This record gives sequence, structure tokens and C-alpha cells, in this order.
Amino acid sequence: MTGLYEEAVKVMPGGVNSPVRSMAAIGRDPIFIARGEGAELVDTDGKRYVDWVCSWGPLIAGHAHPDVVAAVQEAAALGTSYGAPTEREVVLAREIIDRMPSVEMVRLVNSGTEATMSALRVARAATGRDRIVKFAGHYHGHVDGLLVQAGSGLATAGLPASRGVTPLQAGDTAVASWNDRGSVEALLDDSIAAVICEPLPANMGVVPADGGFLEFLRDATERAGALLILDEVISGFRCQLERPPADLVVMGKIIGGGLPLAAYGGREDLMRLVAPAGDVYQAGTLSGNPVATAAGLATLRLLDGDAYAQIRATSEQLATGLAALDSQISVVWQQGLLTPFFRPTAPRNYDDAKGCEIEVYGGFARGLLERGVYPPASQFEAWFPSLAHTDAHVEQTIEAAKAALSEL
Ligand code: PMP
Repeated sequence: MTGLYEEAVKVMPGGVNSPVRSMAAIGRDPIFIARGEGAELVDTDGKRYVDWVCSWGPLIAGHAHPDVVAAVQEAAALGTSYGAPTEREVVLAREIIDRMPSVEMVRLVNSGTEATMSALRVARAATGRDRIVKFAGHYHGHVDGLLVQAGSGLATAGLPASRGVTPLQAGDTAVASWNDRGSVEALLDDSIAAVICEPLPANMGVVPADGGFLEFLRDATERAGALLILDEVISGFRCQLERPPADLVVMGKIIGGGLPLAAYGGREDLMRLVAPAGDVYQAGTLSGNPVATAAGLATLRLLDGDAYAQIRATSEQLATGLAALDSQISVVWQQGLLTPFFRPTAPRNYDDAKGCEIEVYGGFARGLLERGVYPPASQFEAWFPSLAHTDAHVEQTIEAAKAALSEL
């Protein structure tokens, strides 16, 4: 244990402020970061890494992009929070609406968790119904009612997935299986306010929807009088997905450019329910914060067609290179996201994903870290290529991966 970690565990639970950073899932201590430069991280010992995590998604432009740094500095010098509206919030809201399908009106908040929690409140208010359907392996933040797991068989009421979540809260959520139409049909009755999903799930590793599954969700929710909520916290502004229209959309990460900012939005009639336009209460001292909106806008402005083409090419190059190393690994990739699954075929749902050789992934990840490559510290997280990653970063990663695999 390093001195810093020793001190950290005395003052913070597990020594970290979010569990995955502990690196427990890959069987090692956390790495404390001193700075980020483009696609690279430097730790407190001065060791340099190619960073494929990029803060778990916000840093599509890489660390400390000069445009983002300048925007943040300029905004901060004018005051870091006013608790009153600003022009930049309006500009960012318009930018989000222009770029994200199904979003006609938007409310800025501070985290994806807060955005999901608020979207569920709107869905319950709009439908007069209480219950939610989510999918096993999808993550929507640590909202109490969504920290649930499926019961045995096809239970209609979820069970708490964390201590501190009450059976009542968990019971308001039912858990379906991704890419399984029957599991959704069986749960959709007139108690369901909304079905929430990641349109491109990335929290069990990347497990895309089968062709037609998202459209099925759209039709099935409409038939049942329920809303469809797409959680685009990871996929939004990154993947340019084909997706059916949603009633509500949850966003985060990229729209804050690495500062705390997230949003929920959607159909105007639904968003008009939110206070003060309507009577669904939701508020925030730091919501629409001037520094965060500056970072978000500076990041979004970097994202044009050429930028997306570059991200796509980097993703494909890394995925293809990793896939060629070992036939027992299936690499699933989309524009801006990928996961090397340590199993011979790509998973279609959470049960499949859980069948990965998690210990082997842990050894692989530790081997990469030793060689100056920083992968997600869990089999069940996505890798995040950025605009800052170059061919040389990809080559260095594939060489390191080859060596790490040969040691397993
Ligand atoms: N939704 C999805 C799809 C996420 O991946 C995350 C976090 N990774 C969240 C919601 C929660 O966001 P936050 O961590 O900002 O609360």
C-alpha cells in the first residue's frame, strides 16, 4: 500500500469516492493520478499510461484539451456560481436539443444519477403509475429504486441490490432481460410508468441491442401506456446511434466536458411538467453551473463529422488489434466504445456477460497497467477511445496486450 492510499483509506470509505476506482475488481490497489495530458495519465509516482478510461466517458476530447481548459478558465474568472440563470445555459440547452433526437426541452442537473431520478419522477407524474421496468446489467446511477436485481425466475418485483435500499423501493422496479422480448412483455401491465434502458448498454461491457429490439421497446411501451426512457449518459454525443423516438432521455458525461453536469429532457409536454413550469419538483444549487456549461459547450463544439469519423476509426483499430491476439476473447465495438470480453462469443445479455473469465480479465488488466496502459478496472466496463488517441497509442496498447496475455 502506498502512503497516499494508506492515508486515503483512513479518511474515505475504501480510500476512494466511487467504488470502481478502488481497482478491487482486478485485484490491486488504486492508482492515484497527478495529471492527464491528451490520451495519457501520469500517476503520483510519475508513471505514464495510455488512458482508455478517460474518466469513464466525459473526456471524448482527451485530458486538458486546450479549448476546454480555456473555456473553464475564462468562465471561472467571471465567478463560479450565481444561483441565477445565465446565457450559456440557454446556449447549451439549444446545442443539446439540436444534437439529441427526441429532446425538445431539457433540464440541466449535476450527475447522471440525479438526471435518472428526476426523469423517473416525471414519468410517474405523467402516467399516474408507480412502477418501472429496467434491464439486468443496465446501470442508471445509484437511484435507490434502480439498485435492484431480478428475483428468481421472472419475478415482477425486484430485490434490493444494495443494503440500505428498502424492499418497497426495490419492489417498484421490475427487472427484464436484455434482448428478450418475452421478459418485457411479461412485465408490462398498467402499473408500469416507464421502461428505462441504455440504448447501447455499456455497464456490463458493451452489449448492443439485437436488430429491432429498441423498436420493439418503443411499440411495446406505447401499447402499454408506459413511457420509454433512453439513458444516453454514455452513448449520447458519442455513438451516433440509430434509435427510435424516446419520451424522455437521460444525458451526462460529454455534455459536462469533465465537469459535473448532466441533463434530462424529452417531449415538451412532459418537460413542461417540471417546476416551475409544472408541479413536478426538482431543483439544484449548482445546476447549470457556469464553469460546467463552459466545459460542456467547448467539448460539444469539437464534435463534428470528422471528429466522429476519427473516433470510429480509433475504436475499430483498437478492437481489431485486440481481437487478433486471442480467439478466446470476443471484442465488441461501436463508435467510441469497446469491450474485450473474456469469453469466446459476444454476450447478448447480463447472464452471458457474467459468464466471462473475470479473474483472467483481472490478470490482463494488471498486466496492461504494469506496461503503461490503463484499461477499465472491471470486465463489465467499456473502454473509451477519445480524439486524443493516436495510432501510436493503439499500437502501444496492442503490444502491451500481447505481452500481458502471454503471461496469463
Ligand atoms: N447512466 C449510465 C448509463 C451511466 O453509465 C452512469 C454512470 N456511469 C449513470 C447513469 C450515472 O451517472 P453519474 O455517475 O454521473 O451519477
